[in-house]
Amino acid sequence: MKFGGTSVAGPEQIKRAAGRIVAAREAGNRVVAVLSARGKTTDELVEQAHEISPRPVAREMDMLLSTGERISCALCAMAIHDMGHEAISLTGSQAGIVTDSSHTKARIIDVRADRIRQALEQDRIVLVAGFQGVSTDSRDVTTLGRGGSDTTAVALAAALSAGVCEIYTDVRGVYSADPRIVPDARKLAQVSFEEMLEMAASGARVLQLRSVEYARNHGVRIHCRSSFEDGPGTLVVSEEETMEQPFVTAVTHSDAEARVTLTGLRDEPGVAGRIFSALADANVNVDVIIQNEPVGDDQLADLSFTVDRDELSVAREVIDRLGDVSVAVKAEEQIGKVSVVGAGMRSHPGVAAKVFQTLGEQGINIEMISTSPIKISCVIAAGRVADAVQALHAAFELGDDAVRPEGAGGSDQTSTVAG
Ligand code: ADP
Ligand code: ASP
Ligand code: MG
Repeated sequence: MKFGGTSVAGPEQIKRAAGRIVAAREAGNRVVAVLSARGKTTDELVEQAHEISPRPVAREMDMLLSTGERISCALCAMAIHDMGHEAISLTGSQAGIVTDSSHTKARIIDVRADRIRQALEQDRIVLVAGFQGVSTDSRDVTTLGRGGSDTTAVALAAALSAGVCEIYTDVRGVYSADPRIVPDARKLAQVSFEEMLEMAASGARVLQLRSVEYARNHGVRIHCRSSFEDGPGTLVVSEEETMEQPFVTAVTHSDAEARVTLTGLRDEPGVAGRIFSALADANVNVDVIIQNEPVGDDQLADLSFTVDRDELSVAREVIDRLGDVSVAVKAEEQIGKVSVVGAGMRSHPGVAAKVFQTLGEQGINIEMISTSPIKISCVIAAGRVADAVQALHAAFELGDDAVRPEGAGGSDQTSTVAG
């Protein structure tokens, strides 16, 4: 059972989470619960770091950020004790979460869950601090990237062969769009791994991308549900288990991206390789990439790519260090992206056309486009993201009140934001 930040924000919420954990135990399960930092704690810790240093040292950043989830676990263990059960809280390191040493976005490379197993044998409820681990190379505390508690939960579920990994959050499950932007978004009863991966990659932060990857690779059943009320939630299931393949399942968005544009690039073999190798070496994740063939007599090309806004300054430095590859470099901080995702679009022509037409009708300019077999993403002005999401959600009739064929499974009819 994993509880997100809003689900442990105040004392009442922590007690409520403790109550749910105890109920699961009393129903005969052995329970490991992963908790996130309370409310906005992680954001506040990041802010504190930046009040001290413009570019905080990554190792110390992880020491700082990992404290948030420890607080939640210790407090929740106290609440569980008061409910008459034995509980023990563990840091990621104590729980055996072993990672590589890339601070602030470490990858889990092993889970040595002996201590958890032992505690379970002793009839204890185990609380594990999410979002963190320890690098065996450096013996330092690491964190798993924003939203990383989801991945802690999935990794533990895999290591312990848990029956299910329940992700308790502040909405009722995975929706056809962020319910905070689209009030009539539809909760999906189930979603395939394939679609969930594309959704998480394109901004549906309800599950961290890596947690979905990890669950698919290790066959973990994810059940995403509300921590504030009982309900069926959303199951993430294998492709074979999905009941239907509508051509569009969800509209996702991100307003946390930035763009780097290199103009006057030498048009010769190896240039893009150099640029993107340098970015990869610096562990910068690149999303949409566009390069134009030179049209002018100077034979110089233009290249743009998007990155997480948090990584813009590192990306800039990497490019600057390359020196002579381009005439000029421009960095834009406010870039938005909207995507439509659906496994059925593989076999339905015309989805891209409808996306572009819908955005055009809204007067939204498309600045970059990228596609996968089951996703179409458009880079647009950050300020127009909400309009774009709403228009696309309506155009593809994804809303709760949309008329659907009789017996179409895969969704149910609850849609308000819980909590
Ligand atoms: P937690 O703290 O529980 O991990 P997050 O804030 O990380 O919660 O993720 C839950 C939030 O994800 C929701 O409050 C919602 O606004 C947002 N979200 C974005 N896209 C979706 C979507 N397609 N379905 C559900 N929630 C979404
Ligand atoms: N507390 C961390 C974050 O805010 C990890 C998580 O919530 O999953 O990103
Ligand atoms: Mg989260």
